[in-house]
Amino acid sequence: MKIDHIAIIGTGIAGISCAKTLLAAGKRVTLFDKSARPGGRMSTRTFEHWSADHGAQYFTAKGDSFKNLTNSWLTHGFIQPWLGKIVAYKNGQITDVDNTLQRYVGVPAMNSLAKYLVADLKVHFSQTICKIEQVEDSWILFSKEQGQIQDSFDLVILAIPPKQAADLIPDRMKNLQEVCSHVKMLPCWTLIAYQESNMTLPFDGAFVEESPFSWIARNNSKPLRSNNESWTAQANPEWSSQYINHSKSEVEPLLVSAFEEIVGQPCKRYQSHLWRYARVDSPRNESFILDNNNRIGICGDWLVNSTIESAWTSGQMLGEQIE
Ligand SMILES: Cc1cc2nc3c(=O)[nH]c(=O)nc-3n(C[C@H](O)[C@H](O)[C@H](O)COP(=O)(O)OP(=O)(O)OC[C@H]3O[C@@H](n4cnc5c(N)ncnc54)[C@H](O)[C@@H]3O)c2cc1C
Repeated sequence: MKIDHIAIIGTGIAGISCAKTLLAAGKRVTLFDKSARPGGRMSTRTFEHWSADHGAQYFTAKGDSFKNLTNSWLTHGFIQPWLGKIVAYKNGQITDVDNTLQRYVGVPAMNSLAKYLVADLKVHFSQTICKIEQVEDSWILFSKEQGQIQDSFDLVILAIPPKQAADLIPDRMKNLQEVCSHVKMLPCWTLIAYQESNMTLPFDGAFVEESPFSWIARNNSKPLRSNNESWTAQANPEWSSQYINHSKSEVEPLLVSAFEEIVGQPCKRYQSHLWRYARVDSPRNESFILDNNNRIGICGDWLVNSTIESAWTSGQMLGEQIE
């Protein structure tokens, strides 16, 4: 049977890339996301007059095809280079890192790229898909919010982290379930610091060592942001794993004090976020999974590497295999 209508669960960059590839090949595609907006871990939070990219910080383009795409996004004004000064930071010592690497960000926010890219796609937001069921040749989807989704689909694609994918895969597809449940994702506790006045520091982003943090960045050094000083500080996987079952009220004082130690100034207003599935520990090194017999596909960064380029490539390669 010819595959015509495809459901994609997840509007992170992998789901979007897969959808655009399928659309270009003439397929009908419907996307679902539990969130109210697209982008997944490419996300931005706004608070009063501040905004902060609290998931992916920037992206790079290594492969030729992704470089070409990045150039077209530049031309369309979806992204801009981030020219902030990036350093390495260890116990108060600052050293240079390779600043010739071109780093890109969505403008005016990291999640703007996803917003631009879904403009021509059919997406249902605020739909948490909680069950997928195959009835003869069709897939039926159920969401927490709506119950059974009206449409049925010839093929379903899971563009979501592996634990969530394992939970959705029907029990009779044990092999696929096991593949997903064996992939370990690492957590990331994130502090978003909102400063009342601008701080003078000799860097805009730093790879940090010997601290709970592995990365901190000044959001307002990125292009087309507001000038209000906000920082995103991301704890390293070991520290985040240690505190994964702790509450925000327990973790925030530790993050704030570690942040203040680096920047040398008080941090009075802040929020935190725990990314339970931030990055993959050991990727599977296969770009995507496509089970033609069961008409189910899987894509996402965790199959390749936790970067935006890898997630995009995974979705694109899966889309190209569907006939
Ligand atoms: C803290 C942090 C920092 C990072 N920094 C960088 C960086 O600097 N550079 C870089 O290149 N990469 C970075 N990454 C990695 C990058 O963000 C990811 O590799 C990429 O965004 C993954 O895209 P994805 O589409 O595979 O998954 P996701 O972005 O996770 O998208 C999955 C989507 O599925 C939705 N979803 C999940 N379950 C369901 C369900 N049951 N029903 C409906 N919808 C569902 C989610 O809401 C989400 O929108 C970072 C990630 C984190 C968390």
